[in-house]
Amino acid sequence: MKRTSREIRTANRYRVLRQAIADSPVSRPRLAAATGLSTATVATLVGELAGLGLLVDAGYEDSGGGRPRGLVAVNPRGGTLVGVDVAETYVHAELFDLSWRALASSRRTLRPADLAPRRVVRVIAAAVRAVAEHRSAAGRRPLGVGISMPGVVDRTAGVSVVAPNWGWQDVPLLRLLAEHLPHQLFLDNPLHACLAAELWSGAARGRDDAVVVNLGTGVGAGLALGGELHRGAFNSAGEWGHTTLVLDGRACHCGRRGCVETYVGAPGIVRNLREMSPDSPLLSPDDDQTATIAALSRGCREGDPVAVKAVGESGAYLGAAVADLVNLLDPEIVVLSGWVAGQLGEPLLREVRAAVARQALRRPAGGAEIVLSPVAGASPVSLGAASFALEGVLAAPDRP
Ligand SMILES: [Zn+2]
Repeated sequence: MKRTSREIRTANRYRVLRQAIADSPVSRPRLAAATGLSTATVATLVGELAGLGLLVDAGYEDSGGGRPRGLVAVNPRGGTLVGVDVAETYVHAELFDLSWRALASSRRTLRPADLAPRRVVRVIAAAVRAVAEHRSAAGRRPLGVGISMPGVVDRTAGVSVVAPNWGWQDVPLLRLLAEHLPHQLFLDNPLHACLAAELWSGAARGRDDAVVVNLGTGVGAGLALGGELHRGAFNSAGEWGHTTLVLDGRACHCGRRGCVETYVGAPGIVRNLREMSPDSPLLSPDDDQTATIAALSRGCREGDPVAVKAVGESGAYLGAAVADLVNLLDPEIVVLSGWVAGQLGEPLLREVRAAVARQALRRPAGGAEIVLSPVAGASPVSLGAASFALEGVLAAPDRP
């Protein structure tokens, strides 16, 4: 893939700003050392980022008698970003400052009656307004709104191509939203959002090759290759949840059988438990997957042997599927993200590490760290979506 000098420059802007946010306040030579870029390049990029109002001068470093080095810091009043996690059953919007501090959030439930495009658009717009007009946003410049949509999206056209659980086809989402919202709008999917959250503010910052496994009701992987989000030819890279783990295995809603998702998505984990212990009190009586995953998490903490076994088996499935990713991509780091990983935490991580050690080839597996997502807060997807807005600003800095 040939990259234009403009694309390289944009990627370098991302890299320098990410590092500056992480280490703020920081000197230019230190940014150069951390990013691997030359001091001259870093000085130019810092100048551009300061021109955009994203970085400001922040005094001098104590140089112990040598020539004092100027420091730059993230501009605390440089602007706000909104990230929206649109999921099958809810809309969650969060407002961030440039240091990725969450300033406000708003969560709305999507009821089955709300799922027509114009109704979902109204719910998204209301959630965005609730955070964008929050008092913590007063006096700060709104830079943009990023939206993560389930299913397949065409990010350039701003279209939700397919949202399978809602029966949507080719909905011009950003055009409909623009009727309600005055902001710059950016669209992508949750896999890419989870990966972007780790690149900007989590375990993949400063890493070139990373995999972020998103475990929720659905399952997928965000991929960073060479320090950048890999979107693929049609923005659909990372649909690892629908790769085959068990030949002729469980039926998947995608119409095929034996997909990874049917064993390690929340409903798959619930099924692992049910097949092991059909009358387990850990199973939610009204088939609420969130409640059962929470019960499994509690059960593991309390040493309940059925919970430990069910999470162990689910972790073994997940580890086998992660081992494929490790063999295929040779990543520096694999991050387990999403609400299921957040709930099951360390017990799940242990099983995945053990299974990858068994199943992956020794060379890539030996080098790959496997960690839980350190991104705190309600939704890494919201944070990642907000980072798309920031990337949008950095990609087209001349836009008013
Ligand atoms: Zn599938």
